[in-house]
Amino acid sequence: MHSLAALRVLAKPAGQLFVGRGMPIRTLSNSAFRGFATVESKKTEDSQQAKSGLSAAAIHSSGPLRNDWTREEIQSIYDSPFLDLLFHAAKVHRENFNPREVQQCTLLSIKTGGCSEDCAYCPQSSRHTTEVEASKMLERDIVLEAARKAKDAGSTRFCMGAAWREVGGKKSNFKNVLNYVTEIRGMGMEVCCTLGMLDESQAKALKNAGLTAYNHNLDTSREYYSKIITTRTYDERLETIARAREAGISVCSGGIIGLGETEEDRVGLLTTLSTLPAHPESVPVNALLAVKGTPLENQEPVNVWDMVRMISTARIIMPKSMVRLSAGRVRFSQPEQALCFFAGANSIFTGDKLLTTPNNEFTDDQLMFQTLGLVPKPPKFEQSSCSGGCSHSDAEPKHADAAN
Ligand code: SF4
Repeated sequence: MHSLAALRVLAKPAGQLFVGRGMPIRTLSNSAFRGFATVESKKTEDSQQAKSGLSAAAIHSSGPLRNDWTREEIQSIYDSPFLDLLFHAAKVHRENFNPREVQQCTLLSIKTGGCSEDCAYCPQSSRHTTEVEASKMLERDIVLEAARKAKDAGSTRFCMGAAWREVGGKKSNFKNVLNYVTEIRGMGMEVCCTLGMLDESQAKALKNAGLTAYNHNLDTSREYYSKIITTRTYDERLETIARAREAGISVCSGGIIGLGETEEDRVGLLTTLSTLPAHPESVPVNALLAVKGTPLENQEPVNVWDMVRMISTARIIMPKSMVRLSAGRVRFSQPEQALCFFAGANSIFTGDKLLTTPNNEFTDDQLMFQTLGLVPKPPKFEQSSCSGGCSHSDAEPKHADAAN
């Protein structure tokens, strides 16, 4: 479906200056005849846009922070002509952030492999035969040394991921995690964890230990979710996100593209995220890195146009959230990454690995920052309730893995 983006432009009806992408082509691409129904249902909105000569991206790029977005509104933003979408996302980005600042996060897998969940993209699942071997939780000295190195290299947020379905009854390992959180926070870094599902008392304990953010990704749309994970429900993910937010921890939650989902699924994911009671503080946008031995090993790589469209839409509908260019960044050239930053991405993972999958070289990232005039974003220690929260799920953290 990705390669048809250019054709959509050609299919744009004459006279509709900035109306969304060519809907008939969209129909051919991924939704069979459903696309025509979509066109019908959006007729009024499209005709208003045609009259005003403005795209949905232009129309929705100003106004108050909203968490009452409709799926149709987000679809129309997502479908806006590419350069118009990019321009308005960049404008929103500049109105809400210093566009030169990019947050650098380092992600460490503190407990790798052997996970009982069946996430189809994840090499850490015990249900898939991959090269990742299960190991015990990392010792204190190793974790703290990794955090120190990350700080010295310019990271301001240190994220720890454990391949767990849930914290559950892992009392002694959880106690270790709490100690790691407190010690790393004491180094002057923001600290994030992705440990699977949390109950209320565990969320409070993490908050009391000094945790900045909790990552729990939704991964994809509610409709497509069961094709990717069957061992945990979408609602269970939302419940963990709510527990983190209620404990006063920032929420980090996003998803992964390239799982075989449709563009409507991508919009569905963005709709759920942007209609949470508070927008996630961080929204990781991951591109699948297909790993041999997982059910998704033969998925086609995500192209940069889809990545930019996703980032731009997230930037417009969640203007105050950090949007993280996460897993899959290693596949994008520096000019492609520049496009993602221009679209509003303002956070990356640095370090050799994202849990178990490769990441960009540190020296390459330094050169890119220099070339693009980017600077590291300083840490922030007050939790914001405004736009964000953080959760765990994989692609990035996730649960990292996907995240990775
Ligand atoms: S993504 Fe997280 S929950 Fe899913 S299998 Fe991997 S480690 Fe387990």
